[in-house]
Amino acid sequence: MKRYIFALMIVAAILSGLLVGCNPAPDAGRPQDAAGGRLNVTVSILPQKYFLERIGGEHVIVNVMAPPGADPHTYEPKPDQLVALSKAVAYFSIGVEFERAWLPRITAANSTMLMVDTAQGIERIPLAAHHDEHAEALTSAAGGAQQAAAELDPHIWTSPELARVQAQTIYAALTQVDPAHQAAYKANLDSFIADIDKLGTDIRATLAGAKSHKFMVFHPSWGYFARDFGLEQIPIEVGGQEPSAAELAALISEARANGIKIIFAQPEFSTRAAETIAREIGGQVLLIDPLAEDWLGNLRQVADTFAQVLGG
Ligand code: ZN
Repeated sequence: MKRYIFALMIVAAILSGLLVGCNPAPDAGRPQDAAGGRLNVTVSILPQKYFLERIGGEHVIVNVMAPPGADPHTYEPKPDQLVALSKAVAYFSIGVEFERAWLPRITAANSTMLMVDTAQGIERIPLAAHHDEHAEALTSAAGGAQQAAAELDPHIWTSPELARVQAQTIYAALTQVDPAHQAAYKANLDSFIADIDKLGTDIRATLAGAKSHKFMVFHPSWGYFARDFGLEQIPIEVGGQEPSAAELAALISEARANGIKIIFAQPEFSTRAAETIAREIGGQVLLIDPLAEDWLGNLRQVADTFAQVLGG
């Protein structure tokens, strides 16, 4: 009898060992993070963190791939960021350049993670070449025409109009992974949309008196913002290329012809070309940041800056 019980104990021990070995971690496969039952989600850039927090509220913890100061065109996620994805229930991509190389690895890092393309339903516009000579140079190069035509503007978050579309997509995804909090997500979405609408109205009022509509900027981050508010962006750099000496000269005369005194740049990129142009036209460089985390406050501030620069 003793031997029989002993054998049973061994079998039980082996079985429980097997069970523990096979069991996933206590909260794996469940949408809620262990800490406070919040959803762990990951986004590519900081303005998306703002969007997710507005709609997810207290129910989400948001991780960002490209940290402050990083360039989302060339960013390379760190190995520990990929490891951390094992806790994420959803990844919200937006179409920034680093995703092209990294989305397959991000997707592979967690097979249960919902992949959400927040650029869905948005028609992206081609990135404008900074002036005609540049476009011609591109199209005349072998295969250049196709490449130039395929380059679509990824900066969809700088437009309040397009932020509305992204907000709806985020709401739908959060509701899908966490239907229990749908009512909260809907209330947060409605409040965010109301803020976006007010932002649009306020910016239109801010820019109503602008005498000029053309602005020059090193990196073309503001194409959709410009489209929303009837402005025209003249980019210095396109597709990551610094302008040549001849292109710089053309930009300088374009700035002079349009009475441009301020050259915009952003903290993530070199201001060298912008400084050169500013020096030649007796103007100055001003930094505006398309990647600020406080999306709403930042766009308001950028609109004020545009209004001052374009003359009221
Ligand atoms: Zn960019």
